Amino acid sequence: MIQLKTEREIEVIARGGSIIAGLFRELRGRIEPGTSTGALDRFAEEFIRSHEGAVPAFKGLYGFPGSVCTSLNEEVVHGIPSFKRRLKEGDILSIDVGVRLEGWCSDSAWTFPVGELDERTRNLLTVTEESLYLALEAAVVDSHVGDIGAAVVSRVDGTGYGIIRDLVGHGLGREVHEEPQVPNVGCPGQGPPLMEGMVLAIEPMLSAGTHRIHTLDDGWTVVTGDRSKSAHFEHTIALTQDGPRVLTGVVPPAYRVLAGPAPGPRSG
Ligand code: MG
Ligand code: MG
Repeated sequence: MIQLKTEREIEVIARGGSIIAGLFRELRGRIEPGTSTGALDRFAEEFIRSHEGAVPAFKGLYGFPGSVCTSLNEEVVHGIPSFKRRLKEGDILSIDVGVRLEGWCSDSAWTFPVGELDERTRNLLTVTEESLYLALEAAVVDSHVGDIGAAVVSRVDGTGYGIIRDLVGHGLGREVHEEPQVPNVGCPGQGPPLMEGMVLAIEPMLSAGTHRIHTLDDGWTVVTGDRSKSAHFEHTIALTQDGPRVLTGVVPPAYRVLAGPAPGPRSG
């Protein structure tokens, strides 16, 4: 069942979302060659917990061991942070963060460059980020969930990149994952109708090659089937009569969605 949120509840989620936006601003300068994903995870946990009443929502979720997910290069999502895993020049690192504040969840992901990227990898990040913004714009009251996936497809078509379709966005609120599912492929006008008070995590994931994925033996890490690089950008939004309100950062002025409470990072 889809749980609609009140304005007061959405304000709490926005306060949690602004913690994530602030964390990404802090992380950006710490993502450099030689840093371990374990060190980034520890920083993230301390940053989140330094805000009264906030905890990392992913820690222990379904048994996940980290505070955040750190997915490197061909890893799509659910990478486990490790002090043995060090970043190298030219890598890309996706960090997925959930915050629970006063019982309400927010969820956002960003793919960061490590040093200088080759042009094809940089373009993968750009297309994925832009597909997120188009998807956010499509999330308006009286449209449908399928319009969101269709917006992702409209940006990715013709690029040769794969849209990871076995993983989806989702509603969230008291729980990190609630109904409805929000696929990254879809047809306009199809799927559940979008209503005022819905809170959704919209999160396109692309690969530089195949859309097929595979879970490693650790039971968590999802990688691309051909080990091509993968990027992941995610915001939590609330659907309002004035349009989608981003709760986990801001988007560039070229995109018209309502600004959230705190600026988020840009890739590149
Ligand atoms: Mg996430
Ligand atoms: Mg999510």
